[in-house]
Amino acid sequence: MTTTAISTYHALTEAEAIALAAGLFPAGTDLECQEIGDGNLNYVYRVSDRASGKGVIIKQALPYAKVVGESWPLTLKRAAIEAAALRKHGEYATDLVPEVYGTDEELAYTIMEDLSHLTIAREGLIQGKEYPKLSNDIGEYLAQTLFHTSDFALHPFEKKRLAAEFSNPELCKITEDLIFTDPFFDYETNDFEPELRQTVEAIWHNDRLKLEAAKLKRSFLTEAEALLHGDLHTGSIFADDNETKVIDPEFAFYGPIGFDVGLFIANLIAQGITRNGDGRGTIVGHIENTWQVFETRFTELWENEGIEDFKKVPGYRESVLDKVFKDTLGFAGCELIRRTIGLAHVKDLDGIEDAAVRIESKKQALRIGETLILKRSELTSIQDVTALLKEL
Ligand code: ADP
Ligand code: MG
Ligand code: MG
Ligand code: MG
Repeated sequence: MTTTAISTYHALTEAEAIALAAGLFPAGTDLECQEIGDGNLNYVYRVSDRASGKGVIIKQALPYAKVVGESWPLTLKRAAIEAAALRKHGEYATDLVPEVYGTDEELAYTIMEDLSHLTIAREGLIQGKEYPKLSNDIGEYLAQTLFHTSDFALHPFEKKRLAAEFSNPELCKITEDLIFTDPFFDYETNDFEPELRQTVEAIWHNDRLKLEAAKLKRSFLTEAEALLHGDLHTGSIFADDNETKVIDPEFAFYGPIGFDVGLFIANLIAQGITRNGDGRGTIVGHIENTWQVFETRFTELWENEGIEDFKKVPGYRESVLDKVFKDTLGFAGCELIRRTIGLAHVKDLDGIEDAAVRIESKKQALRIGETLILKRSELTSIQDVTALLKEL
């Protein structure tokens, strides 16, 4: 009989997933297992008690990413990064991330809290859900995780130790290419309807825009400000009317604070474009509230827990938040453009069935994206940003 040692990397069988989770249930519980992920980068197994339905999640990284029919090798180390980021962020935003029960670097899995009672925010938003707590919770999550992992809160030795621990070059490279470079040039990875070609070619010929995108890319490459989530779109958020949980930080690394804020806001903008009237108003409210909660909480943390050397410098906090705001808009602009014409789209826009409406909505997304990148120094308040949505 041959057996595969469970410690050598292989895709877990359902029986193995059950064995790994069994210790979290009372002895003798009758468990079942289902693979529930979308399987492009990772497996997601749900192991649950047949009787009560109570479960846990095991997420396992695949050693490659399946993209447009091809496979790219992709480091398994991202599973350890994801588990460590969930734990680090969980120290500061305890109720806003799933609890981690265990992780294994060799097999590249993380066992975590089952959030199946919630829905992925992108899906709910597309169905018109309001999620009254969403922007409060994400504003809070952003302030807590980003402030507490920054040089404004940590001893510089600890900050640099963490920055080294969360070195994530392969996942960063995906972002560097797909968000900051490919959409701005005629690259094969891009993907858009023929009706958008003229608009897209105008982007490829817009030297000012490409210059600003290059500057934003360099910020992303070099500015180790805080431990980012790194992929904070609405598909990385579970929510209902009472609760919000942020999942999937496999892209975590030390980067510019505005990147996380900007990604979330861009995905709200993409959703807002698809709505009219009060529905759009809800999204406008979420965008404004995200920034306001983030800024207010960040300021409180700075005053109460900040490093004295920075705290005592008049005007420095304002200057930091001003920089984060400009970065937020620039990164949001890049995200809007890449989610419209790059490799990975969003269902909010792609799912619009009426072709003419879909194309027009995508043009709006591209226009807002461009404006955010080019005008990020002139837009001074979050209301200047939501005005772009209100004007549509
Ligand atoms: P990927 O990195 O492959 O995108 P995600 O972490 O986003 O993986 O998970 C993919 C899907 O698996 C989610 O959209 C959700 O449906 C499900 N899932 C992931 N984590 C959990 C969880 N903790 N509880 C319940 N379902 C989950
Ligand atoms: Mg997925
Ligand atoms: Mg995901
Ligand atoms: Mg992911």
